[in-house]
Amino acid sequence: MTINTPLRSIDALIAQGLVAPDRRAALDAVAARYAVAVTPAMAGLIDSADPADPIARQFIPDPAELVTLPQELADPIGDDVHSPVEGVVHRYPDRALLKLVHACPVYCRFCFRREMVGPGGDALTGDKLDAALAYLADHPEIWEVIMTGGDPFIMSARRVREVAQRLGAIPHIKVARWHTRVPIVDPERITTDYAKALRVPGKASYIAIHANHPREFTAAACAAMARLADAGHVLLSQSVLLKGVNADVETLSALMRAFVENRVKPYYLHHPDLAPGTARFRLSLEEGQFLVKSLRGHLSGLCQPTYILDIPGGAGKIPVGPAFLSACETPGAEALAEDRHGDLHRYPAI
Ligand code: SF4
Repeated sequence: MTINTPLRSIDALIAQGLVAPDRRAALDAVAARYAVAVTPAMAGLIDSADPADPIARQFIPDPAELVTLPQELADPIGDDVHSPVEGVVHRYPDRALLKLVHACPVYCRFCFRREMVGPGGDALTGDKLDAALAYLADHPEIWEVIMTGGDPFIMSARRVREVAQRLGAIPHIKVARWHTRVPIVDPERITTDYAKALRVPGKASYIAIHANHPREFTAAACAAMARLADAGHVLLSQSVLLKGVNADVETLSALMRAFVENRVKPYYLHHPDLAPGTARFRLSLEEGQFLVKSLRGHLSGLCQPTYILDIPGGAGKIPVGPAFLSACETPGAEALAEDRHGDLHRYPAI
């Protein structure tokens, strides 16, 4: 059956055959704690006959979400400790996050901001938006502003245009970057007019698009990305490395190629954050490095993302390899360079 509105409750998921009725009580308890929404585009991709379906795994709640491990944190990447004013996170000197909304069109079960996002969450409007923009205007060291949330593309064209125009009036901001999952999960929202509304006058405009599995690249999603690229935005990718979704060489390769084929340059591949109740998605850093190294072996350089770890507590992002050059143990010693077959080659230190 075709659906045209998001599924926002366990009842709605049961009615569409995406959840077995005997799971209702267990999953109602999850939905009482963490928001649930699956867009028609994503619901239509789920193969409910496959218990390991990678799309279902990202969006269908699971009782395991109610188990919080000691190392898991409500604010795993430490946004709050770097927030000088509501809606702004200023962690690095030359860039700041502008968190415009707390709602999303889908709610991902592995979300690193899952304790903050949900329907009805505060939007940054009125005096709060004025204060956030005033902070950005008062800090000339801020060269780049990253619009995030929630998902900012859930806002109307009128609202994104207003934010874009006001950012455009701040001279020292040179780069505007939007982070979104909408082109994948609700592609019809990205009309030609919407793509134009996102332009920040006089600034370089980047859009980082979140996708985790090659099946998410439907014809409608590809058309939405084309409209964004044609409107003059530079498109980047962001994905989360997720056990049971994309943590194998074949899937990751197909995902990165799908980005590049749609004019989206692979940018970040995130190691999963220590968000509450998300242990079932996590793999070890060593496993992640193996996968990323395997990409280097057989995919175009265009298809290589940077594998990133966000250090818990707010210390920031670091690339986590893998390394292809062994460190010189003594000054002046030769380094060892590892090729894509794993063979080592000496290279002069200077
Ligand atoms: S779209 Fe982004 S912010 Fe929203 S639930 Fe998914 S990961 Fe979290």
